[in-house]
Amino acid sequence: MESKELRFAAGAIADAETAVVMSGAGVSTASGLPDFRGSNGLWERYERDAFHIDRLQTAPEQFWRTYAQISTELSGEGVDPNPAHEAIAALEQNGQIEAVITQNVDGLHQAAGSENVIELHGNGQRVICPACSATYASKTVRERVKRGDTPPRCELCDEERILEPSVVLFGEQLPEHAFYRAHAIAQNSDVFLVAGSSLTVEPAASLPSLAANRGATLIIVTHDRTPLSDRAEYDFRADVTDVLPSLRRAITEREY
Ligand SMILES: [Zn+2]
Repeated sequence: MESKELRFAAGAIADAETAVVMSGAGVSTASGLPDFRGSNGLWERYERDAFHIDRLQTAPEQFWRTYAQISTELSGEGVDPNPAHEAIAALEQNGQIEAVITQNVDGLHQAAGSENVIELHGNGQRVICPACSATYASKTVRERVKRGDTPPRCELCDEERILEPSVVLFGEQLPEHAFYRAHAIAQNSDVFLVAGSSLTVEPAASLPSLAANRGATLIIVTHDRTPLSDRAEYDFRADVTDVLPSLRRAITEREY
């Protein structure tokens, strides 16, 4: 992909003091993961109530049996990062972007080498003890559940509390710390790039408008029109795996 618009957008990122990327489902689906909210999405295949915090609290045994079935997909196991993840990681390593705020829970940004990743919806690779905060790999806990050890309890403290997924369940608040960090960095950014998000899920959707209201240049890369498309200086209705590597190339070429 080569265009004047692309070169200008690359220039905006290269010249930015603080450029931030926010990634949505489109970045994960490009790696072959299901879109949780789309028409064939994971949440459509199961009752949403199955993943509600109330169910974990009132019927933990059943909650964990169902959760064990989806935790492989949530944790991105057996799936590789794609060129969009790689381009984002390379831009961070070269100091061109400050952080990745993500709505995804699969850990693929970290797998690609991104370090400053703010996970708005938690992480599907981990399970946590609500008493001692010990974390377990999802895979280990899933195997325990499949062997009939359900609901799985913490083995590392005396409380023997029922373990909880690190992903944000329906009915749960976003992790406060992550949200405040995302908010602060969006507010301080002068370039805000949205990759693969339809910008319909709040409160994540409000972060790019917060940045734009403070004067940041808004770049959107996603197939469909979004509620913020009209406000974007650069609105690429194309695949993240085409546009992000092209932006990275254009930025690298500028440096020589
Ligand atoms: Zn514990």
